Amino acid sequence: MADTLLCLNSGSSSLKFGLYERDDGLALRARGKIEKIGIEPYLLAKSADGEVIAERRWAKAEDMSHESLLAELLAGIEARIGHDLVGVGHRVVHGGANHAEPVRVTQALLTELARYNPLAPLHQPHNLSAIHAVAALRPGIAQVAVFDTAFHQTQPPVATRIALPRHIIDEGVRRYGFHGISYEYVAQQLGGLDPALLGGRVIAAHLGNGASLCAMQAGRSIDTTMGFTALDGLVMGSRCGNIDPGVLLYLFQQDGMDAARVENLLYRESGLLGVSGLSSDMRTLFDSDAPAAKEAIELFVYRVARESGALIASLGGLDGIVFTAGIGENSPEIRSLICARLSFLGIELDEAANRANAAVISTPASRIAVRVIPTDEERMIALHTDALLTREAA
Ligand code: AMP
Repeated sequence: MADTLLCLNSGSSSLKFGLYERDDGLALRARGKIEKIGIEPYLLAKSADGEVIAERRWAKAEDMSHESLLAELLAGIEARIGHDLVGVGHRVVHGGANHAEPVRVTQALLTELARYNPLAPLHQPHNLSAIHAVAALRPGIAQVAVFDTAFHQTQPPVATRIALPRHIIDEGVRRYGFHGISYEYVAQQLGGLDPALLGGRVIAAHLGNGASLCAMQAGRSIDTTMGFTALDGLVMGSRCGNIDPGVLLYLFQQDGMDAARVENLLYRESGLLGVSGLSSDMRTLFDSDAPAAKEAIELFVYRVARESGALIASLGGLDGIVFTAGIGENSPEIRSLICARLSFLGIELDEAANRANAAVISTPASRIAVRVIPTDEERMIALHTDALLTREAA
């Protein structure tokens, strides 16, 4: 009987999943997504070769909680594979300062991780509620937490320090960094494609709805644009990115906002959505003629280039750039605009390769290699879950 692992990436209104066979080099068996949870959930699952194997819409009247949807998902998967799952791996956005590696889920771990809910309100509570739901539905199943912060534990202390009084730093107020599961996957892939470049100084740009940059030296994170929370750094779909802290004082003192209002403003109403007044979705902005949509795109690009400058200083130079995630993998326009701003580094883009979303989009003469590597966070979670369960069984 084949051992099958389920990997879950649970968000506020979506649940992405991947199903992997352990005894066949972790072959992908199926992947899919439940979208619009809380509104009108819609499930679409495909086999490894892209064939639709399950599609379902839930009517408004049905119980549509994460737990009831997960119950149906687990039952559907087990009916299809004909046996029980051996483990479930979860993306957990915030692992705090204590976790540089994935860990087996225990009650004590869940209590510890719940402390980080306020630091990642868009993700952490939903990541943890998926773990609770699986524990309630399948009490005996092994669950593994894989952290987005873990890859960045290699940052030197100077990169993680925040210039606040010691007693606040001692509470754990420091820069952590996120998107680590994606960066680890990208680093592994780059190691296979271009080991010499992985051994050098690389900026990996995870540009999706959430967006960040990671400075990698010899494949390890030494700096990144996200910090204490996933609000910091680049302009994102609906998050502001780095901002003068004086603006927050202004919002509290002059506009009379309370903390909940400011949290909502910074996480859900800012970024591309706030600047464009139209959408958090890059494709929608490209399709629009509105001047504010163009300004949002211009600001997004400007800030990627500006933050790249900071990370190049951290790295002491640059050998390559790797684009990944929804925008990074699919938008030749954004890649071209960013590389144009960084052309002073000696970047030469092969525009035809760029338009084709090719693996290498720089010319042979370019001083900086520019690559596109599709990320696969679910697979990285599967690799870690498999490795941990194998170690435990040894
Ligand atoms: P992710 O969070 O990685 O799924 O990325 C979502 C973002 O990728 C959204 O802003 C999408 O509009 C953007 N995206 C996906 N495909 C394209 C494309 N072809 N051109 C521009 N943006 C895209």
